[in-house]
Amino acid sequence: MDSFPTTQVDAVVRHLIRTIQDNAAYLSEIDGAIGDGDHGINMSKGFTRAGERLGEHVTLSEGLQTIGDTLLDEIGGAMGPLYGLLFQEMAFACKGKAEIDKETFGQMLRAAVDAVQDMGGAQPGDKTLIDTLIPARDAYLNAVAAGVPFADALRAMADGAERGKESTRDLVAKIGRASRLGERSRGHLDAGATSCCLILKSLAESITTLL
Ligand code: ADP
Ligand code: MG
Repeated sequence: MDSFPTTQVDAVVRHLIRTIQDNAAYLSEIDGAIGDGDHGINMSKGFTRAGERLGEHVTLSEGLQTIGDTLLDEIGGAMGPLYGLLFQEMAFACKGKAEIDKETFGQMLRAAVDAVQDMGGAQPGDKTLIDTLIPARDAYLNAVAAGVPFADALRAMADGAERGKESTRDLVAKIGRASRLGERSRGHLDAGATSCCLILKSLAESITTLL
């Protein structure tokens, strides 16, 4: 099958929450090098709260909406509003769908990236999660346009995310807290780009098991 029913959401949303919880220390360590070291703690707190709020048998849209609302309400830092919006946009793009296919997932990805760019104003190369999102989205959409199965397009997205995340190591931060360091921000991964890579890889992995 090249789609999955939106009711099989537990696997997807719980996998996402566990991924962030398992990587909390790692993400804070990365943020500590050129930021204030709170990224993993903030993210883990937000995703854990979302998990507590999540009802039984929710659809994918409802699960993503709960994550988005919780991050927006409850986590501080630059990332609460940006990730809040990202998940709300993903939720909206699959609202009311009984099945998610590769086209719908492409719309979710596109809407999420547009919203983060509009709100945060970061451009590619500014050393933010945008440097993960754009290559991931483009790799995914190109794969879909080439006619490959959903699972292969998800693998292309995960590879694009990994490449994008790694590209932030050599960049100088132009926006957000790390931009105050100027040249000294070079040589370190960006925390938001790293958490975003974990999120996209988690989605790719859990959705692939449902196909
Ligand atoms: P804070 O910087 O407030 O401590 P976090 O540590 O939670 O917030 O998140 C830092 C991450 O936020 C950075 O690694 C970067 O990827 C991201 N970021 C900051 N400002 C922006 C922005 N305007 N647009 C996109 N991403 C941003
Ligand atoms: Mg921080």
